[in-house]
Amino acid sequence: YAKIEGKNSYKLFNNDLKLQLERKASIEVELTKAITNDEFTIYYQPKFNMITGELVGIEALLRWFNPKLGFVSPGEFIPVAEESGLIIEIGNWVIKQVVEQMDRWKEKGNQLVKVSVNVSQRQFRNDHFVAFIKGTLNSSNVDPAYFEIEITESVLGDHDVVVPKLDQLKGLGIGISIDDFGTGYSSLSMLKNFPIDTLKIDQSFVRDSIDNAQNNLLIKTIIEIGNILNLNVVAEGIETEEHLALLVQYDCSIGQGYYYSRPLHPADFEVQFLNRIKIHS
Ligand code: C2E
Ligand code: MG
Ligand code: MG
Ligand code: MG
Repeated sequence: YAKIEGKNSYKLFNNDLKLQLERKASIEVELTKAITNDEFTIYYQPKFNMITGELVGIEALLRWFNPKLGFVSPGEFIPVAEESGLIIEIGNWVIKQVVEQMDRWKEKGNQLVKVSVNVSQRQFRNDHFVAFIKGTLNSSNVDPAYFEIEITESVLGDHDVVVPKLDQLKGLGIGISIDDFGTGYSSLSMLKNFPIDTLKIDQSFVRDSIDNAQNNLLIKTIIEIGNILNLNVVAEGIETEEHLALLVQYDCSIGQGYYYSRPLHPADFEVQFLNRIKIHS
């Protein structure tokens, strides 16, 4: 853009920016009504032991269909929710829905695996966050050991604030996973001090791991870091047999991605991945 001078390019840029701002504004307006109008659905994506093929975990992923905007991806609306503060209400809604879903799955006699919920910066920083999780789990039959949060490295920023909070969360008995690991700035020495359980290798590394020697090496290094710090390592974005083979070769045993399954509506997830007790026979 910098090279194109003159009125026209300015106008073009201006229109583009205007459209972006309008889109953001309407997302924000529509988001305020999304819970009340029942526009959210939580999808579930399985995580597998890549060696045994066993289901070992589930990630909850938010989906939004709005009559005016159609489907909007979380990559687009989560940042708007975060910026506007709506993420607190939406995030709490997600946590409550997921715990209720876990309760129903438990009632149906499903073998339990960890279910993880994504938590963004502002949600994590909120003063009522720990109490909300505690209250929600207490009013359910879910064992906290099966509930996990996924936070990104950027959330780890302020050590003195974050460590006590992570300790409180660990005190509830829940799991803590670092999402998109490798894309942020957490130093190794800091990582050592955080009471976390799992590193999730960012899917961008996995995507290009086959042809890109650097990404290949990054994956290998992240897995080694995880092993040194005694953390579980999960690879996201497993799309092909080659991805799977490479990760297993580097000693990462847990994988998630389209190779196994896309995120699914809970009804489809049940049919495909959960063993149900036959109540009527
Ligand atoms: P994330 O937590 O890193 O989730 C993984 C994303 O990768 C999901 O995108 C998932 O659908 C997608 N994915 C899974 N397997 C594959 C694969 O094999 N290939 C490719 N290309 N993609 C794959 P999604 O659902 O669009 O979510 C995007 C991001 O939005 C999430 O990234 C997470 O940061 C955020 N998000 C989603 N749901 C929530 C939520 O309930 N609360 C918060 N705070 N953030 C959420
Ligand atoms: Mg995640
Ligand atoms: Mg991720
Ligand atoms: Mg992400």
